[in-house]
Amino acid sequence: MIYIVTVIVVAFLLYKGYLLLYGKQTNLNADLTLSQKSILENEVQYYSKLSEEEKVRFSKRVAVFLSSIKIKAVSCVVSDVDELLIGASAIIPVFGFNSWSYANLKEVYLFPNAFNTKLEYVGWKNNRTILGIVGGGRLKNKMILSQKALRHGFENKSDKNNTAIHEFVHLIDMTDGDVDGLPLSIIDKPYTLPWFDLIHKKIEHIDDGKSDINPYGATSKIEFFAVASEYFFERPKLLKRKHPELYKKLSVFFNQDRA
Ligand SMILES: [Zn+2]
Repeated sequence: MIYIVTVIVVAFLLYKGYLLLYGKQTNLNADLTLSQKSILENEVQYYSKLSEEEKVRFSKRVAVFLSSIKIKAVSCVVSDVDELLIGASAIIPVFGFNSWSYANLKEVYLFPNAFNTKLEYVGWKNNRTILGIVGGGRLKNKMILSQKALRHGFENKSDKNNTAIHEFVHLIDMTDGDVDGLPLSIIDKPYTLPWFDLIHKKIEHIDDGKSDINPYGATSKIEFFAVASEYFFERPKLLKRKHPELYKKLSVFFNQDRA
């Protein structure tokens, strides 16, 4: 009897230790409540345009994702809406891959506003221009988002920007070990050269002032991929009309055709 109790206690402590070290245990049976689904319907244009069957799959995946990460508020309060916007931003770019899970993410920190490289988020003199960040080193398995930018990304439905989706696309880019604008986890080898050629062409157009793509995309191949993906998910029809080749490629990579 003592032996069995000891085994149970040890197993429990190991489990608690595991959670402490590796974060939450993903609940594969999780699903959203009706009120959470109605928040998605009202706040997330992408979701509101899905078919009923897709909505069922989408909301389950958001719930499973949210069960797998911790959201930590820094000097702000995380609302139900914030939580769901983070979940939606995670699932939108991987909705075409049924078994995708973000193995490289455990925690999302929500800062009230923009921040700088020292992660300072107050003071107007501190050169606070960063709205979201993911990465290695001290940021391994972590994402930091500006709450204001997270909300703005979904409030403004006509721009082509969405900070949180942008950061999740960086995480997808990282899964093959390199952040280079070439996510081999979703791009097949024969596509790599044409993809880089297209990026070069599109960046040239941005530099020449002849593009409606966010100029931040011209800073590198990495940022181009993330910025073009924001456009793809926020304004698919417009992207298809203005940049048919880019739309086609992203549509193949993400296995989605929302236009
Ligand atoms: Zn970026």
